[in-house]
Amino acid sequence: MRFDVITLFPELFAPFLTSGINRRAFETGAVELKLWQLRDFADGAYRRVDDRPFGGGPGMVMLAEPLEKCLVAIRQDRSLKNHSEKLVPVVLFSPIGQPLNHAGVEEWSQSLGAILICGRYEGLDQRFVHAYVDVQVSLGDFVLSGGEIAAIALLDAVARLQPGVLNDEGSHQMDSFNPALDGLLDCGHYTRPEIWNEVSVPPVLLSGHHADIGKWRREQSLVLSQKYRPDLIVAARAAGKLSPKDEHFLANIFVSVQPESKPD
Ligand code: SAH
Repeated sequence: MRFDVITLFPELFAPFLTSGINRRAFETGAVELKLWQLRDFADGAYRRVDDRPFGGGPGMVMLAEPLEKCLVAIRQDRSLKNHSEKLVPVVLFSPIGQPLNHAGVEEWSQSLGAILICGRYEGLDQRFVHAYVDVQVSLGDFVLSGGEIAAIALLDAVARLQPGVLNDEGSHQMDSFNPALDGLLDCGHYTRPEIWNEVSVPPVLLSGHHADIGKWRREQSLVLSQKYRPDLIVAARAAGKLSPKDEHFLANIFVSVQPESKPD
């Protein structure tokens, strides 16, 4: 899979490509990444990439022309490297888009990749958006100063889903929103020491009894999801993912939860 990123700040990406567990995905080429400096496609001595908005008002708008030139160069580069290359979608990071979620990340992680555009200033000339952008993706209902953080978030989430990137193959399956958890939130985790600040680890985790531990973790997922994301419980129920045992536990959740296993 190959992602091409159009950005005015390619240097922002380096730390995320060279640190942590995801490094493997980029080093092995499981996720191929090519950064394109938009300014290289701008004309004139100043290599201008933005101008004032028609109609007045604050801020600057990204010029359509350098964006188009950069896009053409990317398409050319991709088809030179891979003759049977299908046109991958052009993604613009923008508050307009659907917020990124697990289902979206899963789809991108199994795709051929995409061309990602990181906006700056007030955003892109709308005519370019109409002409070329296939999908808009948001990171949430707030405004960033640029699309780079959104691009890095997408690439990071996609990279950790690649086979061989996490040490334990199945470990992402047990993460929040994943199928093995029926889309619920992950349970809380504990490590040494057994007693910290006079609080002990839930005893079941020290029991070595796998079935009991599994049951406890499932219940904790249900508790946390019910408390923080009841919409996930509703979705799991609608998808037929909640067993009669789960439903019984949920119905009795306030009486059955022990103080030490409460989420907060
Ligand atoms: N005027 C725009 C905000 C521009 S912010 C508006 O009010 O909608 C500059 C750039 O940051 C945007 O072009 C976009 O690429 C990026 N950006 C800002 N907020 C974002 C978000 N929530 N998700 C993804 N990208 C975002």
